[in-house]
Order: sequence, then structure tokens, then C-alpha cells
Amino acid sequence: MRRSADVVVVGAGTAGLHAATCLAESGRRVVVLERRPEGHSGARWCNGIVAWQFERAGLAPPVAPELRARGGVTHLLSPSGTTRVSITSSPVLDADMRALVQRLLDRARGAGVEVLWDVTDVRPRFDDAVEAVPTDRRVRGVHATWHGEVIDIAADLVVDASGRAGVVRDAVPALAAAAPPVEGADLCSAQQLVLDVDDPDGARAFLAEHGARPGDIVSWMAPDGGFSIQSIHVAGDLDEASLLTGSIADGRHRSGSELMADLRRRHPWLGAQRFGGGGTIPLRRTPARWRSLRSSSLRMASWRSRSLRSSSAWMALWKRSSSGLTMPTRRSTSLAITFLAPLRSFVSDSSRR
Ligand SMILES: Cc1cc2nc3c(=O)[nH]c(=O)nc-3n(C[C@H](O)[C@H](O)[C@H](O)COP(=O)(O)OP(=O)(O)OC[C@H]3O[C@@H](n4cnc5c(N)ncnc54)[C@H](O)[C@@H]3O)c2cc1C
Repeated sequence: MRRSADVVVVGAGTAGLHAATCLAESGRRVVVLERRPEGHSGARWCNGIVAWQFERAGLAPPVAPELRARGGVTHLLSPSGTTRVSITSSPVLDADMRALVQRLLDRARGAGVEVLWDVTDVRPRFDDAVEAVPTDRRVRGVHATWHGEVIDIAADLVVDASGRAGVVRDAVPALAAAAPPVEGADLCSAQQLVLDVDDPDGARAFLAEHGARPGDIVSWMAPDGGFSIQSIHVAGDLDEASLLTGSIADGRHRSGSELMADLRRRHPWLGAQRFGGGGTIPLRRTPARWRSLRSSSLRMASWRSRSLRSSSAWMALWKRSSSGLTMPTRRSTSLAITFLAPLRSFVSDSSRR
């Protein structure tokens, strides 16, 4: 099947859906391709998001059930639990990313975005005219398989918002060379689960032991050294608990899932999993290459190839903690502005002629 669009976005997570909306609201025909089925794309766990990040992304603040809790007291403990710092007021909101992704999807559809689910085998569709010079080939859309049918979508711009998969980036020589995959010590292996509290008395005893109250967060900092964390947030009504674990994924520390198993073993009052998931989060500082991208030939290479990467996995610009909202959505907004500006000047130039 052959079809065309102004923009193809690969990935229906936070970054992809926001980029799609920004571009569609500016009058572009946008198609999003997602490999998972509807209702399963993007992050499927909870993120701590600072309140102003929603405003900066141009989104209304979350409400329940997307908003699960708002900035309670956080107790930061040393691994042995003997040293403790308590933060009494935190600006961080506990957001259910499943609901945020659904909100972004509804918004995208409202802006006229078409989303194709269960899409496999996405690969860039190159401009045949310059096939002889592989590094100069321009991306002119994508090829993919959708429900067993090969689709060929011609597009002016392809946005790779596929997370660490980098499905388009890795197949475009100029982008692959400029943004190699993030590995090992530059990754955090993380898991976030929401669990039943099977034994409320056990939860009360745990909180009392740490001088905490229902609704507080108890976090052990650096249980496996460096960047690692184990954290338990018991809900105010003692009905459920939200757990977060993470560590550097260099093979020398326990992974997020191993730290999670350890936490659950040590706290038998915790019960079955309600939802959640895990993955790896890029941590590395802004690569020098990206900093120079603003003014360098790489930007031109990206621009020429008409494929920019919007997802968090590429740049990981955040400094201390990653953001499931700010970086994906801010980059998506700048992408829309960057992409639309030349089009506008092209349109006005053409009309003058
Ligand atoms: C356990 C854990 C806890 C976290 N906690 C926080 C937190 O507290 N605060 C915070 O700000 N951030 C947190 N993060 C990070 C945050 O969740 C991510 O930064 C955010 O989800 C990234 O969004 P994205 O849209 O860039 O990518 P993703 O959410 O990964 O979306 C990418 C989409 O692309 C799709 N895709 C991939 N490959 C293909 C392909 N070949 N073809 C088509 N589609 C494809 C995927 O199925 C997915 O739907 C956490 C991450 C983890 C793992």
C-alpha cells in the first residue's frame, strides 16, 4: 500500500504523541506508527514529575487518576538507615504514565493525527536520486509492515520517537554516526511497580520504624553505591505501595529488577503487583557532539536527511534525573518550530514569486 503524509512519527510514547500533536496543530498531515497494540504504548509505570513541567509542556496539570499523589514528605536514608534527611515539601507529582500517554493520544487524535498500531519492520525510505552517496541520502518517509501488509509512506519529515530502539536513527548513516547508542555506565536500570499492601499492620510498623507516616516516601540512597536507589511510597490509605529501584547498568551492580526483588523479599507486608514495569534510562550528559550540533554540519546532515530524533534516548539532556515529560515534550515542541519555520518561509517565498 502506498500513501503519503507531511510527517511520519515512529513511536506513540510521550515524545512521539506530543511531537505529532504540535505538528498536526500547525496544519501538517501526521501519521504515527507504533509497534505495540493500542493501550500499551509508551511508559506503563509511574513517573515523578515536577509540577511546572506540565505547564512548560503546554499541558493542563494532571488530575486523578493520572495524578496519583502530590508531593508528600520524603525521607532519604543511608543504606544502613542510620543517617536520614527528610524533605517536608516536594514539588514532585506522582503521575500514572499510562493515563498521561492516553491523554496525549486523545489530544493527538483531536488534532487530526492518525495512529497505526501493531506496526513492525519500520525502516527509512531513502531518496533514490542520491543512493550512490550513502551518507548523503535523504529520508523521504518510511517502509513498514502493518497487519501483514507492506506500507510505503512518503513524507517530508520522519521523527524517530522510538526511545532507545532508535529505529530510524540507526539506519541513517549521518545520525547513527553522530548519536551512537547509549550503553552500560551511561544507563540506569530501573523498575517501578505499584503493589497491593497485603498487611496494613506490617506497613504501619515499617513506617513507624522509619519515623514516617502513611503517604510518605522512604528512600534508601545508594544501597548498591553511586546512583542506586530503593524507594517505597505507601499510600495514605495503606491500600497500595509504589516502589522504585534503580542502579547504573554497568554489570557491576544489581539491576533495577534485582533491587526490586530484594525490596519485596525484605518487606513481606507487600503483596501482588497491580501494574508497573522497567527499563533502562539514559543518563549521560549532553554529548559534545549534540552541543556542537546547534551550529555544525551535523545539524545540516540531520536536516538534509529530514530525520530528526525526538526521543529521550538520544540525548538525555537532563542533568540529575531524567524526565519522562520535560525533555520529550520540549524537544518535540522545538522540533515542530524548527520544522515549520523553513516551511513558512518557503510558502511566503513561493507566494511572492
Ligand atoms: C522504571 C522507570 C522509572 C522512571 N521514572 C521516571 C520518573 O520518575 N520521572 C521521569 O521524569 N522519568 C522517569 N523515567 C523515564 C521516562 O519514563 C521516559 O523518559 C519516558 O517514558 C520516555 O518517553 P519516550 O516517548 O521518549 O519513549 P518511550 O516511552 O520509550 O516510547 C517509545 C515508543 O516507541 C515504540 N517503539 C519502539 N520501537 C519501535 C519500532 N521499531 N517501531 C514502532 N514503534 C516503536 C515503543 O513501543 C514505545 O511505545 C522512568 C523510566 C523507567 C524505566
